[in-house]
Amino acid sequence: MGKVILIGAGPGDAQLLTVKGLAALQKADVIVYDRLVEPAMLQERKASCKLIYVGKEPSHHPIPQEEIEQILVRESKVNELVVRLKAGDPYVFGRGGEEGETLYQAGIPFEVIPGITSAIGGLAYAGIPVTHRDFASSFHVITGHLKKGRDPLDWEALARLEGTLVFLMGMTNLPNICANLLAGGRKPETAVGIVQWASRGKQLTVTGDLVTIEQKVAESGISSPALIVVGDVVTLRPQLNFFEEMPLFHTKILLPRARAGKSMLAENIRDLGGEVTMYPNIQVLDIKPTTTAEQLARKSELLFTSKEAVERFFSYVTEINLDIRSLKNTHLTAIGKQTNEAFKEKGIIPDTFIKRRSNELVLEHLPRIQKNESSLIIGSVIDTAEVKAMLPEITSIQMMPLYDMRPVTERPFDLQCFDQICFASSRAVHNLLEVLTSEEKALLQQKTILSIGKFTSATLKTFGFHDFYEAESATPESLIKLIKKTKLEGVPQ
Ligand code: SAH
Repeated sequence: MGKVILIGAGPGDAQLLTVKGLAALQKADVIVYDRLVEPAMLQERKASCKLIYVGKEPSHHPIPQEEIEQILVRESKVNELVVRLKAGDPYVFGRGGEEGETLYQAGIPFEVIPGITSAIGGLAYAGIPVTHRDFASSFHVITGHLKKGRDPLDWEALARLEGTLVFLMGMTNLPNICANLLAGGRKPETAVGIVQWASRGKQLTVTGDLVTIEQKVAESGISSPALIVVGDVVTLRPQLNFFEEMPLFHTKILLPRARAGKSMLAENIRDLGGEVTMYPNIQVLDIKPTTTAEQLARKSELLFTSKEAVERFFSYVTEINLDIRSLKNTHLTAIGKQTNEAFKEKGIIPDTFIKRRSNELVLEHLPRIQKNESSLIIGSVIDTAEVKAMLPEITSIQMMPLYDMRPVTERPFDLQCFDQICFASSRAVHNLLEVLTSEEKALLQQKTILSIGKFTSATLKTFGFHDFYEAESATPESLIKLIKKTKLEGVPQ
């Protein structure tokens, strides 16, 4: 029997998951998740992890709470680690307590990893501090989901409170909330803020007071899921609105990718307030090599194409009990800066370092490789084949693929919603365009497409794309500059 961990996913932005939450997510065998959980977070799961969606779309019947609890019980009987991923904090109107009770009764071990509740963190992203010495010395988080005729709230008491009031699930009841607070004696000019999709790229905020907010909400079209915040802390927004002021706020960027793992570019875009979707999701599958220790020791050159290749190679070396000193006369070549760094971390300085520019091999440097008959290229299936193809004259050069990276197509996939599609490598062009239907390609043609450099542009052209903008120099910094410029000016020169 396994265990269940209730994890708080935070208000929205995938980066707001806790370090402990992320570690558990990466180990999970099953993830049971809700509608408000940011899908990007799920990309952290391991390849074999099963996903169970138990969210409800506003117009559909929800999965009854008892059924969700039964899913947790059932899955924990056949899996080691079941993660129940909930928006915000699992114990703030998340029915996490009920799930814990059921698990306790079923004798299933469970843990909780708290999350940042939208009631506090979500407001912060709209420039609203939940307390402030000048405006509020307490705060109250209240459910706005009130049953007709059975209003459990003591509105007079709530209206008398000096602190900030935060209502969750309250949008359909907004008129009642305002009317009740006014009737209870709260000043009409008390500031009110509504924050929809807090901390996401699509965050929307509307402000007013207890009298005007209803009208403003109607005019703006803002709706659920949203936070309603009542209190003069809302007036601090102009000074504290760090998120909505970011240069790429409200910019949705599709970043087709070449490899699995962290993307610095995605991080840079997010740091500037942009919303990034990486696509396709890439699964890494390990390949068990058959090369023996003796065969490895006889090679006169080993060429590594990635950091992952170096790491996997060292694990393999340990596994086959090869003393690394037996490779002391072997020429080691690292392709790419990260590959070189990975060697340095192991206390080894490669004999040759070949730069990768924007994920492309710089061809001119290849002749520096010792072109002898007993070279071995170590990397992913694609990388090793690519390097071999660049050295056609050495027919006997061998490959040792240690892993495969397979794009996983997750449909439905809404291309329409993106403002920009940024290709940071030639392989990324292949990874996206090879999985798109002809209608999707036609749709993509109408979007703003950016290319990191000339190799990527050339690949785009082979797929029939000619209308795009190219970064000045083929570096992530230069691509970021282009993204910002395109956002500001529409069409860059
Ligand atoms: N456990 C969650 C709350 C779940 S109740 C938490 O701690 O945040 C669901 C309600 O939370 C929604 O109806 C909405 O009012 C609020 N909510 C959650 N995430 C939100 C977000 N990113 N933006 C605005 N409201 C959000």
